[in-house]
Amino acid sequence: MVTQILKEEGILPLIKVRKEMIELAGGKGANLGELLSQGIRVPPGFVITSKAYSYFLDYNGLREKIISALNLSPDEASKVIKNLILSAKLPPDLEEMINSSYNELANMAGKEVLVAVRSSATAEDIENASFAGQQDTYLNVNRSNIIEAVKLVWASLYNERAIEYRKSKGIDSSKVEMAVVVQKMVNSKSSGVMFTLNPSNGDRNLIVIESSWGLGEAVVGGKVTPDEIVISKSNLKILDKRISKKNLKIVYDKGRNIEVHLEGEESEKPSISDEEALELAKLALKIEAHYGTPMDIEWAIDSDLKFPDNVFIVQARPETFWSSRKKEDVKVEEKPSERKVLVKGLAASPGIASGKARVLLDVKDAKEFQKGEILVTKMTDPDWVPVMKAASAIVTDEGGITSHAAIVSRELGIPAIVGAKEATKVLETGQEITVDATRGVVYDGKIILEEPKQESHTSTGSLGLSRDAMLSLFPVTGTKIYMNLGQPDVIEKYLDLPFDGIGLMRIEFIVSEWIKHHPLYLIKIGKPEEFVNKLADGIARVASAIYPRPVVVRFSDFKTNEYRGLIGGEEFEPEERNPMIGWRGVSRYVSQQYEPAFRLEVRAIRKAREDMGLKNVWVMFPFVRTSWELNKAIKIMEDEGLTRTPDFKVWIMAEVPSVITMADEFSKMVDGFSIGSNDLAQLTLGVDRDSEILGRMGYYDERDPAVLRSMRRLIRVAHKYGRTVSICGQAPSVYPEVTEFLVKEGIDSVSINPDTVIYTRRLVASIEQKILLRGIK
Ligand code: PEP
Ligand code: MG
Repeated sequence: MVTQILKEEGILPLIKVRKEMIELAGGKGANLGELLSQGIRVPPGFVITSKAYSYFLDYNGLREKIISALNLSPDEASKVIKNLILSAKLPPDLEEMINSSYNELANMAGKEVLVAVRSSATAEDIENASFAGQQDTYLNVNRSNIIEAVKLVWASLYNERAIEYRKSKGIDSSKVEMAVVVQKMVNSKSSGVMFTLNPSNGDRNLIVIESSWGLGEAVVGGKVTPDEIVISKSNLKILDKRISKKNLKIVYDKGRNIEVHLEGEESEKPSISDEEALELAKLALKIEAHYGTPMDIEWAIDSDLKFPDNVFIVQARPETFWSSRKKEDVKVEEKPSERKVLVKGLAASPGIASGKARVLLDVKDAKEFQKGEILVTKMTDPDWVPVMKAASAIVTDEGGITSHAAIVSRELGIPAIVGAKEATKVLETGQEITVDATRGVVYDGKIILEEPKQESHTSTGSLGLSRDAMLSLFPVTGTKIYMNLGQPDVIEKYLDLPFDGIGLMRIEFIVSEWIKHHPLYLIKIGKPEEFVNKLADGIARVASAIYPRPVVVRFSDFKTNEYRGLIGGEEFEPEERNPMIGWRGVSRYVSQQYEPAFRLEVRAIRKAREDMGLKNVWVMFPFVRTSWELNKAIKIMEDEGLTRTPDFKVWIMAEVPSVITMADEFSKMVDGFSIGSNDLAQLTLGVDRDSEILGRMGYYDERDPAVLRSMRRLIRVAHKYGRTVSICGQAPSVYPEVTEFLVKEGIDSVSINPDTVIYTRRLVASIEQKILLRGIK
């Protein structure tokens, strides 16, 4: 017979316990439950509450017996009472509840598990518990001895010293109660320590993880040289990794911990994956935020459970050595003047990374590339993307901030410097370098650099909060904050960012990386559906992840030279002298040659919207030059069954100056415009956007008054016709002053790179407030 109270409060999963519940769950249980509620993952378990203990006493009629035994001397009383407790039987219903809670832990692991059974003193007895060192803990307890261990912990309430202590304080020993915490023993695949500062110099911008195989004693006891991972707190990126040769591990085997000698692969490979290290870093941030001071943390990764549920914190205490020093005493970098600059270039994707350089001139040699190396090459194209994904940083000789290398690395969140001219000549494979892609400088050797404070906008700061809770941390803006995206799979990484939609989804990445074949070639070999399905899948990946926020999908905007690179492309693509202003954008869709392929693009949009129900998919036409061509293209789209409706918006890019000159005409044809400042600056100023010479001379600049005036004119005319204006070129991601200009001019949305979303949302909010407060316009 289980009493109602026992049913509800006899046993509590740790996850349900909160810090106020000391009376019921004891201090340890309350503390662990509170940590869990803050998202700080500790090994799973349950609390056998003080109510359960009380029920056990009553069931066995022990209260009277304990009271009378307490009249004896403390040592006699202790012996008698402990014996009473140990020889008493657990009420069958309580025993059943303990067993079924144990079963839940075993089910979670999919096998029998070992547990730790620990005392957890309640309010009346907490002081005594700490005074008397009453920390009875039984480790590696299994199913058959768990009940025995629980009774031993209960009995420890009547240790001789505890009885003496209470007597001296006038506390009635017959009234004290105890809770017991049962936690899964971590079956440590690997474990170690972690600091929320750099333990070698006190730099609080870093998290340093030390890791080795097996149980934590190997690292804590200094028996191995652990692997070391350094992570930047501001953007949770791995800055440095040092993998050591680990010559032993400690494992639990048949009742004891033993040392196992390691050699070969296991000794040399990393004992922690990047994914696990980043998960630990997230937990470290939460712990530091919870305690409000740098922390020294012990952690373990459980091989019985699945990631990320297997990444555990087993101990956390304030870090004392550096924390007690004044902040000014902590020098991050001793002598900046002694740093040796190897090359400089354009800071294309912010961040800092150190590691070994790998100079690769031809993508055919990609197999030489080792994960985590720094890729040094001339310029990238879609074939390079797999290598880029494995790189810790990228340096290219060529390219500007809108080049392939720049755009892809920004999306991937990999530090990148482009246009570094002689990087492939100056840097050598195997050379240890530090890439400061926030400032555009490559240094010799490994240097610890501080990220500028403003760069913290790269961090999503996700602390396991719900999206709504995350959003509430950021200001509401009247101007919508959209994000640019090209690679569908990276959307997962940015889901926590406070963006209102995707303002430019480039489909070129889906075509070059997923589809790989030229659409006309697929039609020729009778596989047009392959194009439609894969394109629809890529779009749907993003649209469903952020539903119902809009995704503005841009029809393809490859240039002929880029289309030629697709499988089967050569047959269909002429060699143009100047592809940048050649057969591009809408001019392709209305040509006899490409029209059938354009129809496939439209069908993919229709599939996503109608078959997959993703009504948040809108479209955008790139490189529009004239109203007649746009008219024709819209007709083809309608012929394929896609017509503008209030929930299907059609935008065009404003990047050829004629669109701005004729903005009134275009306003009659579409719902909105998005400024392509990359091409608009190129075509307004007559400057090839990829020309390094003109770039270096300062000609290519979206802030040029001629470009700004065009943008202003477009906003005014479009608004007169009730159309919206956005911007999806790089300008607002790079120049806050352009964002400020456009917000003041009343732009409806800005679409920026993922790494500037948080920063831009705050910036836009502050500009809007200024407009409201001062009435400036
Ligand atoms: C632009 O021109 O600003 C733009 C966003 O398009 P792309 O860079 O793809 O030409
Ligand atoms: Mg463009």
